[in-house]
Amino acid sequence: MTVLSQHAREQLADLLARFGLASVTPLSNWIDGHLLEGEGEEITLINPATGETLVSYRDAGSALIEHATQAAARGQRQWMALTASERGRRMNAALGGLKGHEEALAQLESIVAGKPIRDCRAEVSKVREMFEYYAGWCDKQHGEVIPVPTSHLNYVRHVPYGVVGQITPWNAPMFTCAWQLAPAIAAGNGVVLKPSELTPFSSVVIAKLLENGGLPQGLINIVNGLGKTTGAALTEHPWISKLVFVGSPQSGRLIAEAGARRLVPSVLELGGKSANIVFADARLEEAVAGAQAAIFAAAGQSCVAGSRLLVERSVFEVVTTRLARAAEQIQVGLPGDEATRMGPLQNRHQFEQVMRMIDAAVESGARLLTGGCRPLGLPEEAQGYFIAPTVLVDVTPDMEIAQQEVFGPVVVAMAFNDEAHAIRLANETRFGLAGAVWSQDVARAHRVAGQLRAGTVWINSYKAISVMSPFGGFGDSGFGRSSGLDGLREYSVPQSVWVETAPEASVAFGYGSGVG
Ligand code: NAD
Repeated sequence: MTVLSQHAREQLADLLARFGLASVTPLSNWIDGHLLEGEGEEITLINPATGETLVSYRDAGSALIEHATQAAARGQRQWMALTASERGRRMNAALGGLKGHEEALAQLESIVAGKPIRDCRAEVSKVREMFEYYAGWCDKQHGEVIPVPTSHLNYVRHVPYGVVGQITPWNAPMFTCAWQLAPAIAAGNGVVLKPSELTPFSSVVIAKLLENGGLPQGLINIVNGLGKTTGAALTEHPWISKLVFVGSPQSGRLIAEAGARRLVPSVLELGGKSANIVFADARLEEAVAGAQAAIFAAAGQSCVAGSRLLVERSVFEVVTTRLARAAEQIQVGLPGDEATRMGPLQNRHQFEQVMRMIDAAVESGARLLTGGCRPLGLPEEAQGYFIAPTVLVDVTPDMEIAQQEVFGPVVVAMAFNDEAHAIRLANETRFGLAGAVWSQDVARAHRVAGQLRAGTVWINSYKAISVMSPFGGFGDSGFGRSSGLDGLREYSVPQSVWVETAPEASVAFGYGSGVG
């Protein structure tokens, strides 16, 4: 075992102990206000930076899903017994539970997820942002009065589903956890959330700290395990009445199918292959900086990564050459190092998949401007899943690398001739999550943005995201919305209530007002 790995193991053990998770195998579930060990097979976590074993924990299994669902139903009843404004106050107060633990939480995630510590700190701050934002909505979910053409008073209330099931991925575990927990409880639901089996602990810690801060016992439950065991048990549990999934299109299909079998609706926040379009009249320096951040932040493991760079032909060479040089300047290093801007990929499967896709692209005629290999200058112990920032040109739209999500630090650059060509190329994918347009021509920028089949579009910017603004995709990027009021509405159902107000009302046989 390397010194680095030994250090990470010890540091992780200390952090698990600090949060009360330490045991023979870590207590990896938070159910009904208690930390519990899983009951299934062992799952081993590997240090993404070194490739060596970090820790093992046990898959929760279906009995713990049952336990968690019952707890969520009890917690939800308690929660709904409070007034709406009290629920909002409690959500804000719950953040007090996190106070003083932010840095430890960031360190924990940095080790397990292999993410640069500075990114993990930013992610922790998102938990606060999301709870504060949705706490404000608790007492503002007004219904409506509908001016129906009869003597009835008809009003509409927003009613929670009851217990919702949430499943999240490994690339932004704390962000996605708070992103879905906050609107779910603001709308009045209890939750059972299953994080990725590769990043199990941070969601447990967040839920525990929030409950310490005053949320009702059992309102939020975190259950950890594999998708095919614990995840499937969650999607099939009869009390789960809404499924919210963040992850790959492949697993998303399974979740939607499981929901459909039980007639339970789902929200799917899936992958992307986002087009970043640079016109010749753009401020090129900013466009290159934007293109670099769009794809290489989080080592490309971001659903909205700008993985297809479309550049107007007259500036193609200058933009791609500058991007390649900028990519070579990115500080790739160990996740715990303060100077690191880009860390390793999170797991071996992802690493192998990205390398295979780069090799296949080169075999089909693409050319590497930079990257495609291990970064130079890493410390000797960094034997984990590092890939240098990679820029590929001579790519054609039909290549796998131009169509499929890579989920790694790899951008493909293609040239376009005019506006119509840029739009055609941008929309030539089954995904539709995000996209960007760089141009100083305001009319053109809006015109192009309006024609992109993408849930989020940036103009002269990339990756600006706020919990206040709706987020989601078209096509293989999923359906439903998260964030903002649209994200909140996914967690409730409109209920229409009819009250007869006529002094001598007669109850009509049939529909009464001539319908049907
Ligand atoms: P994944 O689909 O492999 O896993 C996501 C989650 O689904 C995990 O918790 C996993 O255990 C669970 N799961 C897998 N099979 C399951 C099953 N049969 N039943 C129930 N649960 C199951 O995705 P990943 O590799 O963890 O994450 C990467 C993907 O997530 C990328 O495609 C990325 O674009 C996407 N993502 C999307 C968004 C978004 O907001 N659109 C955000 C982050 C990540």
